[in-house]
Amino acid sequence: MPTLLKRIRRRQVDCPICRRDALDVTPRGYHGLVVSCPRCGSYRIMREVLGTVRMLDVDKRLAALEKAKRLASAPVWPTISRGCLAVVVAVGLVTAM
Ligand SMILES: [Zn+2]
Repeated sequence: MPTLLKRIRRRQVDCPICRRDALDVTPRGYHGLVVSCPRCGSYRIMREVLGTVRMLDVDKRLAALEKAKRLASAPVWPTISRGCLAVVVAVGLVTAM
């Protein structure tokens, strides 16, 4: 994708899941991060788990996203929450936040 085209669209971020280029499409007032990623698709991460997600290994981040996708029902976007992380990381890490 041409750089210029990206620049005039939404704010660019590193995808918290795959760490590639993605777009931050978080609506004003949403308590978390909404990402549109060419690799991962569109998904939301609740703010309370954002720090934990960033600390995880990539395979665990992908597992959390997969869990969120399984829980999501159209037209709601997958949302990575504490519940999704609980299945992929030690309970101690989640509760320590
Ligand atoms: Zn991604």
